[in-house]
Amino acid sequence: MTLSNHCPDLETFIDGVRSRNPGQDEFIQAVRDVAQDIIPFVRDNPEYNEGEILRRIAEPDRIVSFRVCWEDDDHNIRVERGWRVQNNNAVGPYKGGLRFSDNVTESVLKFLAFEQTFKNSLTGLPMGGGKGGSNFNPKGKSDREVMRFCQSFMTELYRHIGPDTDVPAGDIGVGSREIGYLFGQYKRLTGRWEGALTGKASEYGGSELRTEATGYGVVYFLREMLSRKDEELDGKTAVVSGSGNVALHAAEKLIAEGAKVLTLSDSDGFIHDPDGIDQDKLDWVKTLKTEKRGRISEYAEEYNGAEFHQDKAPWQVDCDLAVPCATQNELDEDGAEALLDNDVLAVVEGANMPSTTEAAERFREAGILFGPAKAANAGGVAVSGLEMSQNSGRVSWEHEKLDSMLTELMQDIHGKCVESGEGEDGAVDYVRGANIAGFRRVADAMLAFGVV
Ligand code: NDP
Repeated sequence: MTLSNHCPDLETFIDGVRSRNPGQDEFIQAVRDVAQDIIPFVRDNPEYNEGEILRRIAEPDRIVSFRVCWEDDDHNIRVERGWRVQNNNAVGPYKGGLRFSDNVTESVLKFLAFEQTFKNSLTGLPMGGGKGGSNFNPKGKSDREVMRFCQSFMTELYRHIGPDTDVPAGDIGVGSREIGYLFGQYKRLTGRWEGALTGKASEYGGSELRTEATGYGVVYFLREMLSRKDEELDGKTAVVSGSGNVALHAAEKLIAEGAKVLTLSDSDGFIHDPDGIDQDKLDWVKTLKTEKRGRISEYAEEYNGAEFHQDKAPWQVDCDLAVPCATQNELDEDGAEALLDNDVLAVVEGANMPSTTEAAERFREAGILFGPAKAANAGGVAVSGLEMSQNSGRVSWEHEKLDSMLTELMQDIHGKCVESGEGEDGAVDYVRGANIAGFRRVADAMLAFGVV
């Protein structure tokens, strides 16, 4: 029997993943989205098949799950659950954010840690893949409550992380306030000031540009995709979802590049401003979201001509560019159809897995420019990697230097996607390109280590 005969087809492989991870729909979806490109690739490269590399990457190295108790302002004892999923450290210490949200489950964190492994590989930096978090939701909690939760969470997590082991960062619900409390507790417990977390404020070891990096990087990646088609951002209309860190900085860079941003959203609905959201309006949203912790609906009360659409996503709005930056599975098949009916030129993912499998399939079939998250939003973790380098070298680099490093990193990731995803007709399947290029580096390292 030849080696390729051992390679299961996609459905057999996914049946195995499903039976080993019952009910973990997000994780199974993420593995399927990668496996559909990797299975044909390993058929042509039997050494990866023989090493069972995909099967091994789809099994986290370990998952730490723990109880987190804290006391609310009314002196009630609260009990939440915390996790750290350490997916794969073949090319560097585990690296990936922490998410605090009431819809966090082990399945969501496993999908994110799996995706992160490929994303971090694409950056070319020494970072493996991990992710963690809790079903604790900071929304509506006082600062003191958030502090007590973060301290309790870190009291368990600290024994599993460290600058050469595993370096968490922020994600949904974990911004600079939470990172501050987490880092403070890590430092208190270990007695060491070291780069065990990224996304820190600049006063205590954070990197310039880290806050902006994911959103800016998304737009740098989009710019590369467009330029390969002799197109540019200037004059294009853009629909952006979300109004958190990624959305606001993607919108900011789109505006700076001359695009007209029409929408922003949150979990209550979206606002549509036909006049465009300019930098002044965006600054108002930044204050609303980061300082006042307000809702996006307030935008329509502030600016004439803007409308708020309750419980809706913005994909029906006519646009050239769509940039989903909120959360997983926010762009479904109907949303994809609406965008395609309106002749969307490019869809680029700022959030992790924002497109459902069906939506992603529609974009790939239609042959539009479709930038998958693991490539397009890698700028954030890339600058986190640069924060780690600055911390260990006891240096801090200037904003301009980091911005040009980020630009180069995004160009490099784009180039890797083209190299592995270009078809004979010259069209690039960015999903396939990102999956194969991300896989190959991790796989080669794993082969070098033998069966471990
Ligand atoms: P934030 O917490 O800053 O913002 C999240 C935004 O998404 C908020 O506007 C939130 O609205 C909205 N949102 C959350 N859940 C839903 C929902 N179910 N429906 C509609 N909107 C929703 O997170 P980030 O901006 O940091 O992260 C956004 C995405 O980008 C995530 O997928 C994250 O994993 C990914 N990402 C983030 C990186 C980073 O550097 N921060 C790096 C790479 C990827 P509301 O206020 O109502 O909850």
